[in-house]
Formats: sequence, C-alpha cells, structure tokens
Amino acid sequence: MGSIIIIAPPAAGKGTQSKFISERYHIPHISTGDLLRNEINKKTNIGLEVSNIINKGALVSDHIILDILSQNIQNIDDYILDGFPRNIEQAKEYDKMINSMGKKIDKVFYIHLPKEQSKLRILSRLSCSNCGKVYNTAFDETKPKRINICDACGNNLEKRDDDLEEVFENRYQIYEEETKPLLDFYHNKNLLYTVDGSADKMSIFHIICSILEGEK
Ligand code: AMP
Repeated sequence: MGSIIIIAPPAAGKGTQSKFISERYHIPHISTGDLLRNEINKKTNIGLEVSNIINKGALVSDHIILDILSQNIQNIDDYILDGFPRNIEQAKEYDKMINSMGKKIDKVFYIHLPKEQSKLRILSRLSCSNCGKVYNTAFDETKPKRINICDACGNNLEKRDDDLEEVFENRYQIYEEETKPLLDFYHNKNLLYTVDGSADKMSIFHIICSILEGEK
C-alpha cells in the first residue's frame, strides 16, 4: 500500500472518511489537526505556540508540522494522512522524508465540496471533548441522538474554536490559495482521485474503497 492522502476543504469529511478507511484496512489515521489539538490540550510548548494560529484559521509553520509528522510515521508504512500536506512546500518535504525512509504514497483523494456546503457544515459541526466523535447537526444521519450529548460516551458536545463564521472565510481562502495547488501537484504524479463530497458518507466511502481496491 503506502500512505493515503486526503485533500478537501474544511468540513468536507476528511476526518470521517479517514476513520472509515482506518477501520476497514486496519491502518493508522494520522490527523495533523488532531495532533496539534492534542498538544494544545496537554499545554505543551508547541500547543501554546500554535493555539492562536489555529484559532485564527491560519496554517501552522511547516517545520512544526513536519517534525510532528515525522515522529508519528517512524515505524509504519501504511497510514492515512488527514490534513497533511496543506501546501506545496509540505508536499515536497514529505516526498523527501518518505523517500529517505523507503516509503511511498499510494493514492491521493480529493473530496470536492462547494464553498457554501463547506461553510454550512463548519457552522453546524460539533465534537465530543472526551472521545473526539464528530457530529453535524445539519443532517439527520450525523446528528447526535440527544441535543449536545455524545452518543458514544455521554459527554457534552462542543464547537471547535476555529469552526466560527469569521474564521471560516480565512480558512477557506487559505485552502483555495495554498492547499488547492496540491491537486495539480498530485495529478501530475498520477496519484489523484476526485470524489464528490456532497454525496452521503457511506457512498463516498464505497467509492474510495473501490478505488483503493483497484476496481476503478
Ligand atoms: P484540521 O483539523 O485539519 O481542520 O486542522 C485544524 C487546524 O490545524 C488548521 O486550520 C491549521 O491551523 C492547523 N493544521 C492542521 N494541519 C496542518 C498542516 N498540515 N499544516 C499547517 N497547519 C495545519
């Protein structure tokens, strides 16, 4: 296999699809956003350095991301990257890093979602501060059964600090300017597969599985 990369606008389902893939193929799900939020929760030096940046919707510096990432992929070859790379520089550095480790990229998925849908999902996204499960109150299939309570562990649900309307515009602009050029970068390497993010999550997952299993 090798690494699987998922590129998508905010709240298009990167985390959800990564989790499904991780469970189906028994490979680790590495979310750079989760790794950073973990540093913030543990109040480490990195956490203190990045919390304002994340809350503004900006990108954390490449060297911090590459450091954290390299620590998390040392002993594994097959894994899903959720939220990395976010710009061309990170993609180039990642190529160098995995080449030196003898690893390769398997496939890159682009989950396409129009801006208005991305915004709607951001504004209605909630997550559990205890187990990390993510909900979306805009859709019946992703609503919690009880208002603001996690179905899985019963904890209160919270809004992410960067899932606010004023932060969204900044996050989306950065996505357009810095992350979207990755589509050409990976298309030119024959690694890119585009899926429609407005379909329901299980249909998207089935399409991803058929591509991973070489049926498409
Ligand atoms: P995410 O959970 O992927 O939406 O990421 C949340 C925030 O973490 C982003 O808006 C960035 O501030 C930061 N972040 C996550 N991954 C990266 C990355 N690869 N490069 C730079 N910043 C990142």
